[in-house]
Amino acid sequence: MAFDYDILVIGGGSGGMAASKRATTYGKRVAVVEQTSYGGTCANRGCIPKKLMVYAADIALSWQSAPAFGWDAPSPTLQWSKLTERIQSHIDSIQQSIASSLKEAGVVVLRGHARLKDPHTVIVSGDAEVQEITAETIILAVGGKPNRLDIPGADHAIVSSDMFTLEARPERFAVIGGGYIGVEFSSMLAALGAKVTILDNSPLILSGFDDGLRQALQTALCDRGIQVLPETTAKAIEKTNSGLQLSLKSDRDGLPTSVTVDKVLMAVGRKPNIESLGLEAAGVDTKDGAIAVNDYSQTSQDNIYAVGDCTNRLPLTPAAIAEGKAVIDTLYGDDPLQVDYQWIPSAVFARPESAAVGLTETEAQEKFGADGIRILSTRFQPLKHQFTDSGAPVLLKLIVDSVTDRVLGLHMMGEHAADTVQAAAIAIKNGITADKLGETVGIHPTTAEELLDLV
Ligand code: FAD
Repeated sequence: MAFDYDILVIGGGSGGMAASKRATTYGKRVAVVEQTSYGGTCANRGCIPKKLMVYAADIALSWQSAPAFGWDAPSPTLQWSKLTERIQSHIDSIQQSIASSLKEAGVVVLRGHARLKDPHTVIVSGDAEVQEITAETIILAVGGKPNRLDIPGADHAIVSSDMFTLEARPERFAVIGGGYIGVEFSSMLAALGAKVTILDNSPLILSGFDDGLRQALQTALCDRGIQVLPETTAKAIEKTNSGLQLSLKSDRDGLPTSVTVDKVLMAVGRKPNIESLGLEAAGVDTKDGAIAVNDYSQTSQDNIYAVGDCTNRLPLTPAAIAEGKAVIDTLYGDDPLQVDYQWIPSAVFARPESAAVGLTETEAQEKFGADGIRILSTRFQPLKHQFTDSGAPVLLKLIVDSVTDRVLGLHMMGEHAADTVQAAAIAIKNGITADKLGETVGIHPTTAEELLDLV
């Protein structure tokens, strides 16, 4: 059978763009269908606008320590609408450059909602027409969307994508959920002057990260004036004359039973975007609400693959990109390629910034036993904080295999944590030992050099 395309990608986000561009390098005929904006979550309502807001918050924090460096001027005021307008215009320019880079690479760019009709046919419903397109291989890269709690008054809450279109900075802000998205928005809103409360149903925020890092960041957020309510769940949201009243239930004594705020952000995880995708019609199975795939991102239907957040493996942009490229290299390259998830670093762009790569202490203990690992850890005030007499001490924590001396994990909280861990991840992924790390000569004066002195 002759198909319209060799590859048809549904979803023009991080994973879909990576797969479609990679396929053109093998000379394949490629089309990508996107129903809203090219760039997906990361460029439009995730990593990029969020990081721009973090930069805005950093200016506020720098200003607080400016007097220590001899600066003497009235405090600046933030024009929130100017910030959000500038962020939106940056997103617009990213969208344009993504669409033109796809076209330049030779990808046919289609707009509309795509639904599978059968394993090789996709129905694309655009603004003006509905068309049927056939392809030899289909890649599902439809991403995810925020979860909402099923509690009374849930509609009064906003979700992460609404953060970039708020008309004003909330004075009082509550965040339900202490995952990385909730923590990042709490941290930046607090730096921008809001009174912030964050609640989590666990004793510590950032479930999944190393416990030492979780504890250090939770303490640092509290020290910055953020109210952290552990072991607490949201029961209802009610609109009152004085704002949104968020009713709470806590397993701990002495915590408030409600808070009244201007905005409530629900940051309670994300779920794959798989409704009305026609998965059943094409024989594609799901598991736990996500598209089920094997180690090569292949679904239960041989010619259909799925990458990125819709598979719920590691919902981060670099993972979606790696999966998209790996599918294409597996199909057209010399060797099948699996993504190695073990050494993908991740960061929490809170202040203080936090980042990690490899095993947590708990994971390492489970794998190697308590005697099978060594923990090398330090807390110290970096030069800048000594000078300003403010800020949380940096945390650096290395997990090392006691038998082979291989570094199994690195966890850091402090300025430049993301860049430091990113650089160290190259060595750690490639099996560096603690001994070799200690032989490396550092750059002085930096925070990262302390990593080399840990050994
Ligand atoms: P997406 O980027 O979501 O793309 C999917 C695309 O498919 C969308 O554009 C959608 O419109 C389209 N689509 C869906 N269904 C259809 C259909 N039927 N027909 C046509 N088109 C369709 N990750 C990081 O690595 N670092 C970060 O700092 C970071 N920060 C984040 C902050 C926030 C607030 C959020 C929400 C996420 C963040 N992420 C971050 C996660 C990251 O954005 C996602 O992991 C990544 O975007 C996933 O890429 P994807 O290609 O799987 O999906």
